[in-house]
Amino acid sequence: MRSYGGVDIIGAGLVGLSLARELAGMGISTTVYDGKGRVSDGAAKASGIFSAAGLDRIGIPYRDSVVNTLNGATLHAGGEALRIKAGGVQAYVADRGMLAEAAMRAAEEAGAEVLLNRRLSRAQLLERAHGERIIVGADGAVSTVASAFGFPDIKEYVLTYKAEYEVARMRDRSMVGLYFDNRIAHRFFGWTVPYSETRLEIGIGISDRARITSASAFRRFVAEGGIAELEGGAKMVNGYASLIPLTARRRTVIGNVALVGDAAGQVKATTGGGIIFGVSCAKLLAQQIKRAIGGTGRLHEYDTMWRKRFGMDLKMHSILHKYYSTVDSRTLGLFFKMSRLFGSEEFFSKYGDMDRPSLMLKRFFLRGLAR
Ligand SMILES: Cc1cc2nc3c(=O)[nH]c(=O)nc-3n(C[C@H](O)[C@H](O)[C@H](O)COP(=O)(O)OP(=O)(O)OC[C@H]3O[C@@H](n4cnc5c(N)ncnc54)[C@H](O)[C@@H]3O)c2cc1C
Repeated sequence: MRSYGGVDIIGAGLVGLSLARELAGMGISTTVYDGKGRVSDGAAKASGIFSAAGLDRIGIPYRDSVVNTLNGATLHAGGEALRIKAGGVQAYVADRGMLAEAAMRAAEEAGAEVLLNRRLSRAQLLERAHGERIIVGADGAVSTVASAFGFPDIKEYVLTYKAEYEVARMRDRSMVGLYFDNRIAHRFFGWTVPYSETRLEIGIGISDRARITSASAFRRFVAEGGIAELEGGAKMVNGYASLIPLTARRRTVIGNVALVGDAAGQVKATTGGGIIFGVSCAKLLAQQIKRAIGGTGRLHEYDTMWRKRFGMDLKMHSILHKYYSTVDSRTLGLFFKMSRLFGSEEFFSKYGDMDRPSLMLKRFFLRGLAR
């Protein structure tokens, strides 16, 4: 069995930094490399919605980063709306830059070394893999580590565009809006996220199979999407394009190289949320690295571990995504209308857990049986 002297993590995103915190906390020599000058650079390209339960689980000190709390979501399609609102706080809107800074402090306090302005090239990565350290690619959706070491491709990406608006009138600052219309948001959706009484995020995702840019889809969404908050005047403050992987790679370990987070495609296909999933997988990876270094396990077992733990949820997210991404908005609107009649608003408000839909159903059936 090969012996390892420590871990090099490529990428100081939230997943890479969380892995570094875990490993350094176990006393393992850990270095993180990132091409950025500050970990918060580019953070505004993504949204910051996290389930309250999920954030508590992953262990990033997040309290100071919270800008808003959410009680639910309104789903829009074909002129119908399904309003799912719980009694208490279901999710947080966090400032992603502040969260990244907090994750970095936690990693360094645990003893990890974080080296910024250090983008590693393909050649440097290949050379490094001959050494005695484990290499982890936590380098995001377009992973250089994955391509350098010949990992299988991610089959589909979502191209995104999101912007912040100053609005005259917020409808309900505790509710996210999700807009399904495959003619505008091909195989994904548009969204609104309130930050405050006057600041609103508007975003859209489209499959990379659509032959348009996310910016042009965004313009159409703003013009035709029927976003009520834009009535009465709104001013666009900024705008960013980015990318979300929609499928997991078929392999996430080759030799002494492992992938985690977006680099591995560990993302919920329904919403594109990747932090809770990615950091949960990073925790499993840290445990397996500890075993591999201690000689009681092999690195490649991580691949089976995370699929076993989250495979059912990945599958359910993928089934849900397949449904809403192929159906036309009128049919989906009709489905909202029917499910409203059957009390789905109440069901989801009570049992909804969008991080782990399999747990949500298990809970529903167990409570049903226990009655
Ligand atoms: C519009 C949008 C909205 C989103 N909304 C949410 C949300 O509300 N909730 C949620 O949970 N998720 C959301 N996501 C997904 C979430 O942002 C990602 O899943 C998450 O950022 C992945 O974290 P990561 O650490 O794996 O990768 P990243 O955050 O992409 O970090 C990768 C890091 O690697 C560095 N890097 C890359 N190549 C190299 C190299 N060769 N050498 C050194 N460093 C390198 C990069 O500079 C970067 O810092 C959203 C994404 C988008 C695009």
